[in-house]
Amino acid sequence: MSDRQPALVVEQMYKSFGMLEVLKGVSMTAAQGDVIALIGASGSGKSTFLRCINLLEIPNSGRVWVGGELLDVQRDRRGRPVYDRSQVDRLRTHLGMVFQQFNLWTHMTVLQNVIEAPVHVLGVPKAQAQARAMELLAKVGIAERADYYPTHLSGGQQQRAAIARALAMEPDVLLFDEPTSALDPELVGEVLRVMRQLAEEGRTMVIVTHEMGFAREVADRVIFLHEGRVEEEGPPAQVLGDPASDRCRQFLASHL
Ligand code: ADP
Ligand code: MG
Repeated sequence: MSDRQPALVVEQMYKSFGMLEVLKGVSMTAAQGDVIALIGASGSGKSTFLRCINLLEIPNSGRVWVGGELLDVQRDRRGRPVYDRSQVDRLRTHLGMVFQQFNLWTHMTVLQNVIEAPVHVLGVPKAQAQARAMELLAKVGIAERADYYPTHLSGGQQQRAAIARALAMEPDVLLFDEPTSALDPELVGEVLRVMRQLAEEGRTMVIVTHEMGFAREVADRVIFLHEGRVEEEGPPAQVLGDPASDRCRQFLASHL
């Protein structure tokens, strides 16, 4: 990994909600093409970490570096964290996010969902955005559903549409927050297959998941988060197979 450029660097991320300190200095580096699986108990801060990376939540402090943009916390006169709005917008164009609940716009067709941000955020001409969207929908195996509304699709198809929508922004890094947790068991495989294909193409991905088999096969590195800190980090064979941390061991025992 040392000879590859870092695609995403997160340094010392801290986040509190009121008195609750959720992230206590989490750092992570993903080299180009790295697939990082983020695991940990419910409430350990996994979602908050992803949401702080793309600034859906404003961290109390920390630095994010992606696609040549550095986002550093500034402070107002009262010491509260503030960010330059245009810097936030630029940073977001480098990150694609896929949520547990898909978060497709229900009043738009699948195709409209996929072209929305390229057309309105990046200013891509509509015909060009549509052509690219159809390629991406074919890639995730739902080209024939382009003109359907999300509610007429299965959960697995909706999640694949959400992945196509994230890819349409040509992000440097894809962030996934439990992408298969809301799916019926028989639909999990079709989404994991698409994600595996993206990994094989060399995309940089950070994946919060409880699919330990998938993490073991696809991830280059696994990070175990415990109460807002990185408790263990390493290759899947180590973290999932022979963890040094007792907490990690206990967590895995309850997830097999
Ligand atoms: P995970 O994704 O690992 O299950 P989360 O990041 O969702 O954990 O949550 C970590 C902790 O932060 C939990 O205690 C949760 O209740 C709390 N939390 C998350 N989001 C908020 C919020 N917007 N306001 C207050 N507390 C929150
Ligand atoms: Mg979560």
